[in-house]
Amino acid sequence: MRTNRGSARTRLLLAATLVAATLAATGSPSQADQDIRTAAGQSVTVDKVKEIAGETGESLAQVTQLLREDASMRLDAKGRLYHADRVAKASATSSAPVVAASPDHPLADTFKLHSRRGSKKVIYLDFTGERVCDTEWNRGGLLGLGALPCGTYAGYDVDGRAGFSNAERALVQEVWARVAEDYAPFDVDVTTERPAAWRINRSSASDTYFGVHGVVSSSTTARDRTCGGPGCAGVAYVGIFDEPRTDGQRIFWAFPEELGNQPRRLADVLSHEAGHTLNLLHDGNTTAEYDQGHGIWAPLMGASDRALTQWSRGEYQGANNRQDDLSVIATNGARYKADDHSSRLSSGTRLNPSSTRSGVIGRSADVDVFRLRTRCRGTVNVAVRNVRFGPNLDIRLRIYNSRGRLVTTRNPTSSSSGMAGGLDASFRGIRPVGTTYLVIDGVGARDPRTTGYSGYGSLGRYGVRYTSSCGRRW
Ligand SMILES: [Zn+2]
Repeated sequence: MRTNRGSARTRLLLAATLVAATLAATGSPSQADQDIRTAAGQSVTVDKVKEIAGETGESLAQVTQLLREDASMRLDAKGRLYHADRVAKASATSSAPVVAASPDHPLADTFKLHSRRGSKKVIYLDFTGERVCDTEWNRGGLLGLGALPCGTYAGYDVDGRAGFSNAERALVQEVWARVAEDYAPFDVDVTTERPAAWRINRSSASDTYFGVHGVVSSSTTARDRTCGGPGCAGVAYVGIFDEPRTDGQRIFWAFPEELGNQPRRLADVLSHEAGHTLNLLHDGNTTAEYDQGHGIWAPLMGASDRALTQWSRGEYQGANNRQDDLSVIATNGARYKADDHSSRLSSGTRLNPSSTRSGVIGRSADVDVFRLRTRCRGTVNVAVRNVRFGPNLDIRLRIYNSRGRLVTTRNPTSSSSGMAGGLDASFRGIRPVGTTYLVIDGVGARDPRTTGYSGYGSLGRYGVRYTSSCGRRW
């Protein structure tokens, strides 16, 4: 199925390129009259707009509107769509000092991190500098920016000194963890360890190992030539993740100095650019190409400068993009991972006292069930906790008794502004002898149009644990 679709898309691409080439040669006025003038000042044929609509699952009208209003959407000399993402540099967060949190992993393992080791799909986050030659970036043609010279471009550098200090390693770990959390629902390995080239490139539609390569760079030359100068935070080709023979476009860029080197914002840009490679377009609104979100929430494909950034399907007020981010990602190269815990009480995962089990709420409707046993009547403490960095999951915990009846629900209200509090859930109460069921899922809060978010993007990794003096092993 993928093969057919892939070749159909390739044919479309070729057809569109031919149309563009023919137009350039003949200057056909009738066709040119129908061309769309983009916000970036380019002329795009109707056929090309149709092709973008077909690949992204957007309507023709919606793509036309996006092209007319979103200046970050550009076409290269060969008519391929990319996004050059600008940020408001003067935001308060980008001028704040960069603070490295204590790392989760040994510092020596910083460049060996894997979110899903063994997956055939990869998002390689490259912080250490990269030699970039023979890519589309080196071939130029991007809105007159000039070709990127073949050469080595510096990596992530917060302190201005060569190599990676302990603080810089801790920052890399945090950025990786945040991006890994955004892609936790999918069968893709977010890694800081350089994969072999064949694991990133896709030679043909039958090649099942592929992915993208995000270069984090402090180089102003790279920023200027690929992205268009100061204020440009990231740039990526659209939809190439699963497209065979697009190896020259598999590098996407992030420029952390435009983000004050802040790990949270850098992670959001990396997830956003990788999202473009998976065919996602911007979540804007009637007045802005990047929606700013509200309260603690913002869409990853918008400006995403808030504490809780999630994938979106345009449920906020004024949304100009109804793309179902999750399903677009899952059908453009990074499929949903398999479910890890049953949603049925009878087949819930057994939980032993004082030992943590982890899981992923991987779909909007995913529910995970755990079972615990008590050998006497007594107090039980249950804690369901998110990952430390950049959780997307607002946890609801429901307690069911041995007969399958709901006893109580724990769903603390998440904060309405500032930091994202109230995402975890816990229970403390008396339980009789026997089995108790813990039912975990992801939920929304408040009104997704104006002050909150729905359960749609409330997904991610969690750990669950219980303690009780009556706890009994299975
Ligand atoms: Zn973008």
